[in-house]
Amino acid sequence: MTTAALPGLLAVSGLQGCGNSDHQSTGESATDSTGSAAGRSESSGRKLGIALVGLGKYSEGQLAPALEETNLCKLAGIVTGSPEKAEKWKKKYDIPAKNAYNYQTFDQIADNPDIDIIYVVLPNSLHAEYVIRAAKAGKHVICEKPLATSAADAQKMIDACKKAGVKFSVGYRLHFEPYNREIMRLGQQKVYGPVKKIYAQNGQKEGYDTPWRLDKKLAGGGPLPDVGVYCIQGAIYTKGEVPIAVSAKYHPKTDLKKFKEVEEGMDFQLHFADGAIAECRTSYNDEYNLLRGETDQGWFELSPAYAYEGQKGQTKEGKLDFEKVNQQARQMDAFADCVLNNKETTVPGEMGLRDVQLLEAIYRAADTGQKVSTKDVIQNAFDPVAAKATAS
Ligand code: NAD
Repeated sequence: MTTAALPGLLAVSGLQGCGNSDHQSTGESATDSTGSAAGRSESSGRKLGIALVGLGKYSEGQLAPALEETNLCKLAGIVTGSPEKAEKWKKKYDIPAKNAYNYQTFDQIADNPDIDIIYVVLPNSLHAEYVIRAAKAGKHVICEKPLATSAADAQKMIDACKKAGVKFSVGYRLHFEPYNREIMRLGQQKVYGPVKKIYAQNGQKEGYDTPWRLDKKLAGGGPLPDVGVYCIQGAIYTKGEVPIAVSAKYHPKTDLKKFKEVEEGMDFQLHFADGAIAECRTSYNDEYNLLRGETDQGWFELSPAYAYEGQKGQTKEGKLDFEKVNQQARQMDAFADCVLNNKETTVPGEMGLRDVQLLEAIYRAADTGQKVSTKDVIQNAFDPVAAKATAS
């Protein structure tokens, strides 16, 4: 890292030990593995400053409100092409003019000590450019899913962050959500035995309100990279393994105008080494939201599984009941904790790359009708705490 990016923090909290992964030495309580901040008070040190790049629906509706609930970081800057939005956000969130950038002035953020972390929340194909520019500016980076529209781009993003010595995470919020963490535990710890079958379905009725989602160049695809990526995630963190092969079939198009460039929906299968199969389904023309694991002795499921809130779950033993959390607040606090205490994120850029590699394999399978091997897909990008996860 770039301790240079954190002069205020070093001065206030004496965190010279950013190279020290033992948080006891900082005298601060850190976040636990789910990102729930265990109680750093603001007076114990400056909160890390996050700048949001792209002030669209997700930034406005989820991330900015979540940053009002975080303990280790706060909204400190914005990057937008719209002067009107900049004015509105500066007022609403008390952001000084010097912390508001547009896409042309963005690189000057390198000189701004208020900004420690840049969060890229742009249409998918723009992720690569802005992550690379953020890394070059010496800032730690979070990037929204899907990480990129090609594995080649995702690799360039990872390389740029490595070269700059900054931390890099993909915005997989569900790794910080108690119901999904319980599914990781039940599946990966084989609580009811090895998982043999997984059902992962995520679909929504897509309108025209974010037209870039229907534009192949900007989105990289249709529902598969947008919401289907959660099925890939869910299946892998339920099984605790990367599949060895994938197969896939496009849904027939019922709206040729809307889905001129991207698929309307798809069924795909992830095949695991022990014969287990994840049956996955994604769509922009139907609503579903399910993650279910089945073993010889039992089952568990979430529905909805992937929503921002309101997860519901049950197992063969009864209903699951966990606390309601703000997933995005936990996700961003967990990343801030990694920066503050030089820890590895549980959702690294490599995990995003792995999933982009799988997305590419799934498209190849759907295009050819063949089962496609995933032997070249990254194997070791895992949430390392998942196997120990408790749902607290
Ligand atoms: P959005 O269209 O609402 O916002 C995108 C923003 O990018 C807008 O402010 C737009 O003005 C700006 N932009 C800059 N250049 C643009 C260009 N050339 N074309 C179009 N817009 C441009 O989209 P969103 O729903 O906020 O999604 C943004 C990113 O966040 C996507 O990568 C998406 O996958 C991700 N996302 C993640 C979640 C999640 O749960 N993790 C949820 C929603 C969106």
